[in-house]
Amino acid sequence: MQVYTKILIGMLVGAIVGLTLGPNSSLLEADIYKVTSWERLDLQLDKDDPSTAFSLPPKPSKPGAKPTAPKPLRLKIVETRDAEFTDAKGETSTLTAWSKVQMPITHQMLLRDKDGALAERLGNPVVGDEVTVWVKHQHTELESGGHTVWPIPISGFGDTLVSWMKPVGDAFMRLIKMVIVPLVFASLLVGVASLGDIRKLGRMGLRTLGLYMGTTAAAVSIGLAVAHLINPGSFIDERSRVALQAQFEGAAGSTADAAAEAPSTVENLLNIIPGNPAESLVTGDMLQVIFFAVLFGVALTFLDNKNGQPVVTLMDRVQNAMVVIIHIVMKIAPYGVAALVAEVVGTSGFSVLKGLFVYGLAVLIGLALHGAIVYGLIVKYLAKLPILGFLRAARPAQLIAFSTSSSSAALPVSMECAEENLGVSNPVASFVIPLGSTVNMDGTALYQGVAAIFIAQVFQMDLSVGDQIGIVATATMASIGAAGVPGAGMVTLAMVLTASGIPTVGVALILGMDRLLDMFRTGLNVTGDLAVTAAMARSEGDDLKILTKQEDKRDTKRGFEKRLDGGQEPIEPE
Ligand code: ASP
Repeated sequence: MQVYTKILIGMLVGAIVGLTLGPNSSLLEADIYKVTSWERLDLQLDKDDPSTAFSLPPKPSKPGAKPTAPKPLRLKIVETRDAEFTDAKGETSTLTAWSKVQMPITHQMLLRDKDGALAERLGNPVVGDEVTVWVKHQHTELESGGHTVWPIPISGFGDTLVSWMKPVGDAFMRLIKMVIVPLVFASLLVGVASLGDIRKLGRMGLRTLGLYMGTTAAAVSIGLAVAHLINPGSFIDERSRVALQAQFEGAAGSTADAAAEAPSTVENLLNIIPGNPAESLVTGDMLQVIFFAVLFGVALTFLDNKNGQPVVTLMDRVQNAMVVIIHIVMKIAPYGVAALVAEVVGTSGFSVLKGLFVYGLAVLIGLALHGAIVYGLIVKYLAKLPILGFLRAARPAQLIAFSTSSSSAALPVSMECAEENLGVSNPVASFVIPLGSTVNMDGTALYQGVAAIFIAQVFQMDLSVGDQIGIVATATMASIGAAGVPGAGMVTLAMVLTASGIPTVGVALILGMDRLLDMFRTGLNVTGDLAVTAAMARSEGDDLKILTKQEDKRDTKRGFEKRLDGGQEPIEPE
């Protein structure tokens, strides 16, 4: 069986496990509350004695502190009490009013308890103690009738299962990420040095950036158009809006904080120049690594051949070895992918997906249109390749991008796809792809267009044409600054929203579905990198040729199959 068929099966297994045995599964008993904004909890020691009411100490606000994701609190449900509630229309319904829960005492709780009020109330507990308290449920009355209840129970078993699978997925992610910095540095340096002509490099750089930014601006415009046509905001009723906001408010706050910390455009541009290249390599700041590797490569071409060659040869060997590591990692990919997908699908939950179905659909339609129209044209007319052949060649990178939601993680595989499956020359692939994986995010930009319109629609705001041109400009710029990691688009979305005056709390509405859509948009991001790479390769005179399945199976030196079957050889140090 081909490696990528196995990865597809891994994804499918992950999705089924996530849906049936995940925290939001309807097959399992919902026996815990998982609360992220835990200072919002109304607690009472004795349900019938209001004087025993308390809440958990709030997070101290430190100016300038780095925003951190709130630690969720797991409350085990012991028993629940219902009560009758009358809504705005005078109708009564029975809803959970109180839950008796077991609450674990955490380190954070005691650290935040500066005035000792909590310790006094709970009888000086220590970390790890379980105390039994009552949670008073918060009910929000809806103008359209009915109520929403907070918090909502989920399955403790599903939550634990997903957290057990997580390390497998994380290990896989780390294994791929491990090769990124050495691979990009080495291959870019070798690529630039073997190009040997600084004018050619400049021309290629400008054209590449032009194509990348052009496709991104087209992507946001398609996103805006699709959102206007489908009108996803009109499908969200008040109940879903209030429930989503309550559920994701805490996380949305930290996203907005992170956006507020983001540097300005000038700072972003300046940041491309590394103050200390060793630091850029250590922290994996890709734009800085690219900048340094390009200059280093150019510098080597100014030394004479005898002096420059050893460095280039060394880096060439480093690059080859990193590629072998990627092939080894691909062997465990199906398991890693299953774990990653199970986590995403399991935690997204059906109720969130149902509420946001039309919005998600609008994003997916936009992504599909962009892929078909923009990339279809680029591949057919600029790269002059058959579209289906191109898609087959790009599939490995798309699958890794989809399952990891990270363009960076997919980068080593994208480079392999470009060189081995499409026949792009090493200098072009090693220049255009690393650049694309950091600056080119069409899927992300498109989704920001849809999300901005969606949130504006839900909050009943009218956006002028000027506002929307602003969205195209900021989303295009933001996609350059966004890192190729899961959820990066969410942080830059908060910036795009702020720039056009849309409330950033709106992020809470779409957070529940974000990770799932992230998979699709990252898949498109990586496809865009490869389409532009193929076009650039054609314009640089590369002889593009799509590797057939048969060749892939036969050849132990090319492609994704059988690459490790070529055999090992001991190496004698000189
Ligand atoms: N996950 C995306 C990427 O790595 C970025 C995003 O849209 O969040 O390309």
